Amino acid sequence: MSLYDFYNLDNLRNRSAEIVYGRIERFLEQHEDFCHCEQCVLDLLAYVLNHVTPMYGTSLLDPLSPNPDREKKIDVEIDLALKAGSKRVAAHPNHDS
Ligand SMILES: [Zn+2]
Repeated sequence: MSLYDFYNLDNLRNRSAEIVYGRIERFLEQHEDFCHCEQCVLDLLAYVLNHVTPMYGTSLLDPLSPNPDREKKIDVEIDLALKAGSKRVAAHPNHDS
């Protein structure tokens, strides 16, 4: 059986990822020198998401109640990962030009 066939997995949300998406949007707006192509942006997203503690919740039962301490920790993790990840992707882009 496939979980996808029986359950709506869209109701399983990673709050950390949602925060990361917003932060990367702002990062791209503020760093025009960083390559905006899909490959580099997805590489940056993957790097940051791999370095940030996930915060999963179900939007049906648990509306992801805000937890300031946890979100502050996530913010610090994102800051560090964004700095390191953007440097790494810029230095070693997965494309030739
Ligand atoms: Zn690129």
